[in-house]
Amino acid sequence: TVGEITADMIDMLSKQSFPLCMQQLHQSLRQNHHLRHGGRQQYGLFLKGIGLSLEEALKFWKNEFTKAIDGDKFDKQYSYNIRHNYGKEGKRADYTPYSCVKIIMSNPPGPGDFHGCPFKHTDPDLLAQKLRSMSLSKDAVDSVVNYAKEGHYQVACQHYFAVTHSNFEDDININHPNGYFEESRRFLN
Ligand code: SF4
Repeated sequence: TVGEITADMIDMLSKQSFPLCMQQLHQSLRQNHHLRHGGRQQYGLFLKGIGLSLEEALKFWKNEFTKAIDGDKFDKQYSYNIRHNYGKEGKRADYTPYSCVKIIMSNPPGPGDFHGCPFKHTDPDLLAQKLRSMSLSKDAVDSVVNYAKEGHYQVACQHYFAVTHSNFEDDININHPNGYFEESRRFLN
């Protein structure tokens, strides 16, 4: 982890250092003031992994969800699950963030879901469109999308990391969204 992370830092961190899967979840949450269960799990555990405390997590989710529903409803329907992910409810297990393999291989997103790995689960044309809208060069977009098309999802993600961190020259292996985040913070700091 990279020190104290608070709810109000997440917008900035998501732009700088989140892998594409987590950027997608963050943007959908901000846009819809909601995420379905699969997305809340994948994103919530990732945020826990980057060092967001339970208190800040409750603040973060409540802040966004209560743009669409009232606070009482949030407390009743959603706070249990967040506390549960932090080991504060149920069998009090300490739940760990999902690895890339888990995200790529299990629980594929259905309509209205935003979880999953965009290199695996997003149609290549849509993926290309999305990457172009982030002002990546045509060459960068082509090579990332080609790796994804060939089924090399994590290589596509590594390539995406390289083209979105200017002057990055090392080789990295991405096998965990939290690893991606930590590499990015190390590089930028
Ligand atoms: Fe996320 Fe891993 Fe897919 Fe990258 S390869 S977008 S970190 S699931």
